[in-house]
Amino acid sequence: MTVVAKFGGTSMATAHSIRQVAGILLANQERKICVVSAPGKTTAGPKMTELLIHNHTLALLERVDDLSTKLGLEPKSKRALIDKLSILSQQSDEARVSFGEWCSAYLLAQVTGWRLIDACEVILFDTTHVRVQCTWKKDERVIVPGFYGWNVHEKAIQLFPRGGSDITASLIAARIGAILCENWTDVSGVFDTDPNQHVTASHYTHMSYQKLLKLAQEGAQVFHPEAIAPLQSAFIPLRIRNTFATEHEGTLVQ
Ligand code: ASP
Repeated sequence: MTVVAKFGGTSMATAHSIRQVAGILLANQERKICVVSAPGKTTAGPKMTELLIHNHTLALLERVDDLSTKLGLEPKSKRALIDKLSILSQQSDEARVSFGEWCSAYLLAQVTGWRLIDACEVILFDTTHVRVQCTWKKDERVIVPGFYGWNVHEKAIQLFPRGGSDITASLIAARIGAILCENWTDVSGVFDTDPNQHVTASHYTHMSYQKLLKLAQEGAQVFHPEAIAPLQSAFIPLRIRNTFATEHEGTLVQ
């Protein structure tokens, strides 16, 4: 039985939060596949994806160095990160932008010892649809970067729409028949209004996929609207949870 756990940018933003993510993964034996977003924004700077889109090389290198130093990476592993960035940057803009998710996956793989599998091996963009190729062994623990995959015709990296790591997680969960897809974020599930703005916001313990789709289409940033159909049609429940409040049950969507 496999749980697919997806962690958003805020969960991957700092060395401290990456260690919290590792703790969450190791706390439940059924969490075997992890999908990650790029390191999110911090008080010191924007989301790594923004730095990549705008090609802010210096700020990018500082961010990579800061995260890898605080996680205690060996010089060899730090070098591997910088080399990957330079290889991707030579390929295309989309390839460069995909580095944020690869970087998150690489850092988390270093901390957990889980195997990093490049999304180019897993997510295959075909003419009309996206295929998922499972290249790992049953029960193996793996980390897959979200947001991108391989276009088999163009032979190039292709991105999903912004916020697309949710789509990666839901496609993988549907493909393997996961018992649950978890979406770990920085709020404790779904509320009727933004709980950071309104103390009176009320929390949903349960919600239907139809309701979540309506909220997502209205702009609620809680789950990507395109990530809903694969889970819903495969009858896979989704639990939205808070990396920074693990005692909270979050919201169960089914
Ligand atoms: N990093 C990408 C973005 O900022 C994808 C994601 O976060 O899911 O849109």
